[in-house]
Amino acid sequence: MPLRNVAIIAHVDHGKTTLVDRLLQQSGTFRDNERVAERAMDSNELERERGITILAKVTSVLWKDTRINIVDTPGHADFGGEVERILNMVDGVLVLVDAAEGPLPQTKFVVGKALKIGLKPIVVINKVDRSDARPQQVANEVFDLFAALDASEEQLDFPLLYGSAKQGWMATSPEGPKDQGMAPLFDLVVRHVAAPTIEQGPLRLLATILEANPYLGRVLTGRITSGSIKAGQNVKVLARDGSLVETGRTTKVLAFRGLNRTAVEEAHAGDIVAVAGLELGNVDLDLAVERGVLVGAERAPTVERRLPGSALRRRRP
Ligand code: GDP
Repeated sequence: MPLRNVAIIAHVDHGKTTLVDRLLQQSGTFRDNERVAERAMDSNELERERGITILAKVTSVLWKDTRINIVDTPGHADFGGEVERILNMVDGVLVLVDAAEGPLPQTKFVVGKALKIGLKPIVVINKVDRSDARPQQVANEVFDLFAALDASEEQLDFPLLYGSAKQGWMATSPEGPKDQGMAPLFDLVVRHVAAPTIEQGPLRLLATILEANPYLGRVLTGRITSGSIKAGQNVKVLARDGSLVETGRTTKVLAFRGLNRTAVEEAHAGDIVAVAGLELGNVDLDLAVERGVLVGAERAPTVERRLPGSALRRRRP
């Protein structure tokens, strides 16, 4: 199945949660019985408060025959290392901006990182229904921001949509048409964001997030860069310097479906999945994600010293 991995960047209150909820509703991934009180992007608050971990939330929607994994990013620079890791899982970014407020300084850091690693942005000017909306001006401010952050010509040539997540529509003009729902945004993501780069070889998964889950134990989330991963598979966990952290066995492979994670038998290169079963006993949570843990199939012949994400390859001259 075709896949797209995209991150979403927005200042708090610019409408990220509302937008993702609309995408869920209109993609049909969001069944009525899944309409839980917890909203898509808000459920990390508790973990954050407890200080357990900083967990990127992935929401996965189906559009026509394509699965789109939407990865949340923290709004500001407090989570510097994390931002970089999260962005290495995706091939494009949605930059969501309030049509009245315009881009705010706090999002500069994350946008700057995304541009620097070569991700192609899609700009969404949200809340054009506000009486104080000034969508064209805000679009210009976004352009100026990207230029100030050294965006490339190609990045400055970003596609732009206007709309109202609240009203549930997106269009190429602030006036509409308003009867296409979120389809213009879905289609744009499929068209503009590259399919994930799939490398040849045995299982390699670049784990970017390590979480302590009360039911599953330690859970690694990351993108499979080559091969496939199964539940019950023997794997090696390697630190980025190539040193062996653990030889273990996966108990569960969880794919993202809508707001939930669902156990699957097997997941393939390109997808973002969560893996349970590894003890990572001597791995400090923060240290592990800082170093970027790799999960490789047992007897994986090589270890990449660089992050194998396509974004980094694009950075090479
Ligand atoms: P987040 O912090 O970025 O996740 O923002 P939310 O999605 O929680 O939205 C923040 C506030 O803006 C909420 O009160 C939303 O109802 C409102 N909001 C979101 N999208 C729109 C929109 O398109 N138009 C208007 N007028 N309000 C919106």
